Amino acid sequence: MTDVAPIPQTDPRAGYLAARTDIDAAVARVLESGWYILGKEVAAFEAEFAAFVGPGQHGIGVANGTDALVLALRALGVGPGDGVVTVAHTAVATVAAVELVGATAILADIDRGYTLDPVSFAAALERPPVPVKAVIPVHLYGQPADMGPILEIARARGIAVIEDCSQAHGAVWNGKAVGNWGDVAAYSLYPTKNLGALGDGGIVTTPDAALADRLRMLREYGWKSRYVSDIPGQNTRLDELQAAILRVKLARLPAENARRRAVAAAYDAGLADAALERPWRRPDTTHVFHQYVLRHPDREGLKARLRDRGVMTNVHYPVPVHLQPAYRDRVALAPGGLPNTEAAALAILSLPMFAQLSDADVGRVVEAVRASADLALAAE
Ligand SMILES: *Cc1c(COP(=O)(O)O)cnc(C)c1O
Repeated sequence: MTDVAPIPQTDPRAGYLAARTDIDAAVARVLESGWYILGKEVAAFEAEFAAFVGPGQHGIGVANGTDALVLALRALGVGPGDGVVTVAHTAVATVAAVELVGATAILADIDRGYTLDPVSFAAALERPPVPVKAVIPVHLYGQPADMGPILEIARARGIAVIEDCSQAHGAVWNGKAVGNWGDVAAYSLYPTKNLGALGDGGIVTTPDAALADRLRMLREYGWKSRYVSDIPGQNTRLDELQAAILRVKLARLPAENARRRAVAAAYDAGLADAALERPWRRPDTTHVFHQYVLRHPDREGLKARLRDRGVMTNVHYPVPVHLQPAYRDRVALAPGGLPNTEAAALAILSLPMFAQLSDADVGRVVEAVRASADLALAAE
């Protein structure tokens, strides 16, 4: 038990307070402007975010990360009768987006980095229930997926690649940021993400100008010019208010990602000899630690002991998508099933991770985990 305030697992309010003066000014500017949907702020945020991802990228702001994936799939012409390979160890949104466009999700297993296992991806292509048109690697927890073999397999088969970058804004694989490797990339800007709005938001990026035009049309009723739909579209617009806030937060993102990495390094050092498994780092990547996820055989015991010591944790995610009631016994799985996914869901635990964690907080977390991990094992 403890007298001091508990350390939360994530804290979007701390992110607001750290930039309060600039965010309040940005909000006031939009409120005063009289223009609230798809205006100067959205255009500026799209350009700034595209430049952040890399040269030659286009950005299309949307209402949330699920819609970003839906628009990416629709822009590539993925729909009924098409298969999309992705993982079950992800936010359910990844799989929901595939079904929202009427396509068939085929779920593959993960590797030790908690991202799409290229071997399972290749196996899923052997006898798929429908022809596979796209693959969605998810750069989970802030760590890029094993893009070398994934891109090789996809290119050899003419399969489109949609990167789900919702947890990895600014992560780097092989010298370039995620989002530069596929045909199109989707990002959630939900408040707790590394780049988070103060409400819902999302963005799609692509290096393909024609695809960018199509994405812009799909975002707003299929309009090329106002009130005339060239293609059937939808409404998934980003607010001016959120865009103005996101511009403030984007300027701070590199420093905040660096702080997350420093927190992760301190956890690694402090827990080096603790009775648990620390996160594996994929070589040739810059991990941006959306989450710091450890493994422990008595995950629930460890979680409870940490809560007693004022350290809040979470599980991302406790039930793999293919075992959730909405998808169970219904979605297609790669041959061999998803043993790594199912084992991970039972053992993973996400420690407190956000850029405003103080060194004192980090020290408290390390101390609490060190004291609890052995005890939880002994109690098992
Ligand atoms: C958060 C998230 C999404 C969904 O984003 P929303 O903005 O909540 O729709 C999709 N994929 C991944 C990997 C996510 O973490």
